[in-house]
Amino acid sequence: MSGGEELQRAGLDVLLIDGKLVPATDGATFATVDPTTEEVLGMAADATAADMDAAISAARRAFDTTAWPTDVALRVRVLRQLRDALVAHGIEMRALTTAEAGAPTFLTHGPQYDAPVSDLGWVADLAEGYEWRTDLGEATPMGVATRRWLLREPVGVVGAVTPWNFPHQINLAKLGPALAAGNTVVLKAAPDTPWAASAVGRIIATETDIPPGVVNVVTSSDHALGAQLSTDPRVDLVSFTGSTATGRKVMAAASDTLKKVFLELGGKSAFLVLDDAEVAAACGFAAFTVCAHAGQGCAITTRLLLPRARFDEGVDAVVAAMAGLAPGDPRDPGTICGPLISARQRDRVEGYLQLASDEGGSFACGGGRPADRETGYFVQPTLVVGLGNEARVAQEEIFGPVLVAIPHDGDADAVRIANDSIFGLSGSVFSADDERAWAAARGLRTGTVSVNGGIWYGGDVPFGGYKQSGVGREMGALGFEEYTEAKSVAEPA
Ligand code: NAD
Repeated sequence: MSGGEELQRAGLDVLLIDGKLVPATDGATFATVDPTTEEVLGMAADATAADMDAAISAARRAFDTTAWPTDVALRVRVLRQLRDALVAHGIEMRALTTAEAGAPTFLTHGPQYDAPVSDLGWVADLAEGYEWRTDLGEATPMGVATRRWLLREPVGVVGAVTPWNFPHQINLAKLGPALAAGNTVVLKAAPDTPWAASAVGRIIATETDIPPGVVNVVTSSDHALGAQLSTDPRVDLVSFTGSTATGRKVMAAASDTLKKVFLELGGKSAFLVLDDAEVAAACGFAAFTVCAHAGQGCAITTRLLLPRARFDEGVDAVVAAMAGLAPGDPRDPGTICGPLISARQRDRVEGYLQLASDEGGSFACGGGRPADRETGYFVQPTLVVGLGNEARVAQEEIFGPVLVAIPHDGDADAVRIANDSIFGLSGSVFSADDERAWAAARGLRTGTVSVNGGIWYGGDVPFGGYKQSGVGREMGALGFEEYTEAKSVAEPA
């Protein structure tokens, strides 16, 4: 079974514009490919600039001329309806995600599908109980007795631009809070995972009461359609997840119209093993983390900082753990490490493996393609040793199952090395002593930290980056408020 067959038969080669499922204006389509089999799964609509223009117009009209921005009860009802419809389609949607994104099945029961679907309910509950109008009390500014209020209102038209690695997680983590807050949305999906978005678009159009124009879904092979959202003056906020390089372009392009930008970008996160930690357990966890979804996660810890005196012990533990994490078919429920998304991404990862050798590093394990997999874009779990934190493979995002081990000389040195990065997305600390672990966690200049294996992921937990890993926070109440404006109102007391 290639995955998501019922939805495929219904046709996923369409855009959702102003409530209608339509082909691209010129009828063009492009292929979406299964990275495990390298077979074409089917076709997606290849939208043009005119289609994007129509999607923005529809979102603008729905925001400016309908009750959507002010009708909280409607929004809460249809978000729950969408959540229920996505739950009902769970089996085929999980299969489709495994087929199109190469997402290991076990992850589709978490962040690759079930968790973000369930989080739509969480954000609907948040909107239902939210204090849209806060009484700031009375005061007498300049001698005038005044009562002050703070109103929270939607920002307007949101342009949501997303990557391929966790397509449902990121599409829904934007749609949910943006809609709950009363915005209308144009979702521009990643060219490598168009069906994840068009399947949600089809379900919105056919199984929910979300009004026409409130959600528009645009798939395209052309990155320029993402850029169109950054420059169009009718878009009020660009919510972007992707690479830091593209994030810089989005911010620059948005500056002409001074629209709000919300950026979730890349990372090169560190895993700190302090010298009192159980090294084998910590390193087993580090290996698992970097292999899950073949390292294609922005917040994955890809630099392993080991105490110098226990460096060899740590390397041996990672090598042993990686031996049990060989790449496999993501349809197999036991697979942790699936394929990379595309031949282009595999080329990129292999380029970094070559660079690691060129820079003087060596591979404690892995270092190339698995011998037993001729088909599919697989790379072996790899541990790079012999390089310092200044090496390019320790500074740049690789987005593959590649871990770089670096020695440290104590807690302060480990924190210093971890922070020696343009990124600041995540981090992990292992220590037998809670106080030491917390001190290191506080020292990290990152948006999330795992202490001794704790999992920070959750719809109610804000996620985002310090430094060049982003601007703003996704998820949680903070993430919801990114999609609101604040209006202060005063009247005579
Ligand atoms: P990418 O930056 O190449 O593309 C992301 C999206 O931006 C795609 O939809 C693409 O079509 C669009 N795009 C490309 N050029 C654009 C432009 N000039 N203006 C507007 N949109 C444009 O990223 P990718 O390769 O799809 O995804 C991998 C990257 O995403 C990694 O760097 C990863 O760290 C990052 N990521 C970050 C998070 C996070 O939450 N911080 C989550 C997942 C992925």
